[in-house]
Amino acid sequence: MKPLIVGNWKMNPTNQREAKMLFELIKKGVKNIKNVETVICPASLYLPLFKGLPLGGQNCSWEEKGTYTGEVSALMLKDIGAEYVIIGHSERRKHFQETDEDVNRKVKKAIHAGLRVILCIGESFEEREKNETKDILKSQLAAALNGVTEVKNLNVAYEPIWAISTGDPYTTKELPTVEKIEKIFLYIQGLLVSMYGQEGTKDIRIIYGGSANSQNAGGYLKEAKMQGLLVGGASLNADEFIKIVKAAI
Ligand code: PEP
Repeated sequence: MKPLIVGNWKMNPTNQREAKMLFELIKKGVKNIKNVETVICPASLYLPLFKGLPLGGQNCSWEEKGTYTGEVSALMLKDIGAEYVIIGHSERRKHFQETDEDVNRKVKKAIHAGLRVILCIGESFEEREKNETKDILKSQLAAALNGVTEVKNLNVAYEPIWAISTGDPYTTKELPTVEKIEKIFLYIQGLLVSMYGQEGTKDIRIIYGGSANSQNAGGYLKEAKMQGLLVGGASLNADEFIKIVKAAI
């Protein structure tokens, strides 16, 4: 299984010209790197602009179609060329009040549409301080995957909310240590095995997200054994993102 490096552009850039420039620079920089799966998740309306790297949506509806003004369905993402979709990102849970139940419905629709899912789970600062990290991860994972039997297209992103940057990947004061991330990796792996068995989980990647940059990527990937990274702020800088992809080789 190749490591998975995902650029989550969030609501950036704000025009097609810059988006195309950024995409082309990244594409050129990772062109010869065949043993890393490099995915770009732009705003969904930009998806048709890009060719040459796997693409993903940043969210999808919990319904396939119908009277849901403003929504984009998993079927639409798939049809427009996306292979992946991020589901349950903490920004969606926080700003758009997405519940675990919503996340579960979205995961089911995405898998049904044939998309590869990047399911985000992670604790807040307060939950971490109360030593609730493991309980939160367990309950988020169980809720998101409730009734989900087909998991070969599943990736789980551990994103401690307190480590996610506000745009600049170098501004976060505190990041999880490599030792801590390795423990979490093993914990999530154990949870998945208890749900799907050893054989059932062999295709599931567990990746890390939270202020990943070219300086810490190697540690999270090689020492903490994470099978990929979900990259926000640093994915908007082509040089930085390419370095992160190279750290995964
Ligand atoms: C994210 O939004 O998934 C993320 C990890 O952002 P950042 O890398 O900017 O912390």
